[in-house]
Parts: sequence; C-alpha cells; structure tokens
Amino acid sequence: MRIDIVTIFPEAFTPLELSILGRARAAGIVDIHIHNLRDFTTDRHRTVDDYPYGGGAGMVMKPEPFFAAVEAILREARTERPRIILTTPQGRLFNQAIARELASCDHLILLCGHYEGVDERVALGLATDEISIGDYVLTGGELAAMVIVDAVVRLIPGVVGEEESVRQDSFSEGLLDYPHYTRPPEFRGMRVPEVLLSGHHEAIRRWRRKEALRRTLLRRPDLLNRANLTEEDRRFLEEIRRELAEDT
Ligand code: SAM
Repeated sequence: MRIDIVTIFPEAFTPLELSILGRARAAGIVDIHIHNLRDFTTDRHRTVDDYPYGGGAGMVMKPEPFFAAVEAILREARTERPRIILTTPQGRLFNQAIARELASCDHLILLCGHYEGVDERVALGLATDEISIGDYVLTGGELAAMVIVDAVVRLIPGVVGEEESVRQDSFSEGLLDYPHYTRPPEFRGMRVPEVLLSGHHEAIRRWRRKEALRRTLLRRPDLLNRANLTEEDRRFLEEIRRELAEDT
C-alpha cells in the first residue's frame, strides 16, 4: 500500500518511523510519503492560509496548494482511484470497520487541516472521504492522520506478527477484547484467573469468550446489538446477567 500525507508539519510524523509501522515500512509492505504543503504554494511567502470570506475569527487554509499537492502525487504514483481523505471533525466517525475498508485499498492520500479548517472546495472537489477521529476538536489534522494510518496499516496482512492477535482485538468481531495477563501469577494480592494457568485450551477459549462478552455488556452494550452472536454467546450472556443479578 502507498500512503501520502499532506501537511504543514512534516516533522510531526516521526512516530510513523517507529515500532511495527517502522518495520512495515522497512519491509516494503507500506510506502509512506510525507509532503510539505508549503512546497505546493506559488508565492514568495509560501502562504497556505487566508482570511475567511464573510469575516470572523481565524484563518482558512487555501484550496490551491492542496489541489496542487494531490495532482503532483497522482502524477508520480500513477495509481488508479486512490482514496483522498480530508481529516475533519465534521467527517464520518472513524472506526474499525472503516479501518478495515481502507486497509484493502492500494493508495491513500491524507490531507491535514489547521486553523479554522480547509476551504470547502477541497471537500467538494478533491476529497473522496471526510473522516473524523472523534467528537472533539484538535488543533490540526496530523494526529488524526497518524491515528488513521496506524489503525489501517496494522490490518494489512504481514504487518502484525501474529494475525490471530489482530482478529481478537477489540471491535474486530464486534466485541471488546478479553482481559490479558502475563507473569507473575500473583502480583500485589491480585491472582491470575486459575483457568489461564490450567493448560486446558477449551476451558481457556470459553473463559476468554465469556469475559469478552462480559466486558462488552458492562462497558459497551451498544456493540452487542450489532455483534454476530452464536448460541454459545447467548448462553454466556444469560449466565453473566444471572451472575450480575446475584452480585447486587
Ligand atoms: N472549525 C473546524 C470545525 O469546527 O469543524 C475545526 C478546525 S480544527 C481546529 C483544524 C483541523 O484539525 C481540521 O481542519 C482537521 O484537519 C483537524 N481536526 C480537528 N479535529 C479533528 C477530528 N476530530 N478528526 C479529524 N480531524 C480533526
């Protein structure tokens, strides 16, 4: 996969050189290019923003440098139908399903805004997608772009060592993940659940599934309505509800 990011702060993207993403880049699984938006301006001051029409506070990012940057990327990359993603708090709310959808694309271009945001013509005439990473407002699109890239790249086959662990992650199957433990077996009076020390694979599988359901019921019951539940899951949920009722 090729990923291009257009930003006024190229230096913000060092986290994409580290850890699993850094290794994926070194292995050639993902090819990430960071572009300075100012390189696509035409004036002496490399201006990327201007006053808003109609007045009001703050500056607005100009459309021309974004169009010029994307057109230069497309000339160089020669990919067919890349997804051109404008980061914005007004976009589609990012989640694991969107990450999965983007992970199957061969070219993503992410545009990072600042100030009051980006001239609307970028959304109207350039972007294929507008994505928000949550219902809050950041100062710029760089963190949003990194969140999207990280979540997408780890879903590309070969990036995370054990693909089984990606399949079990929260949201992958519509549930939150089960609790994880490592050594020591007892720490400050807190013991690892006996079943995990038993070596009994089927009992461990059942415990993990039930605890994933318990977590989801207690923390994100909204997810259960959309999850694909098996007969066994429904039995576990009944047991959990009984256990919770007994505890109160
Ligand atoms: N005035 C805009 C609004 O209220 O919708 C907010 C602009 S924000 C201060 C500047 C830039 O940060 C945006 O253009 C976008 O690139 C990025 N940004 C801020 N919050 C974001 C979010 N929740 N998701 C994605 N991008 C965000």
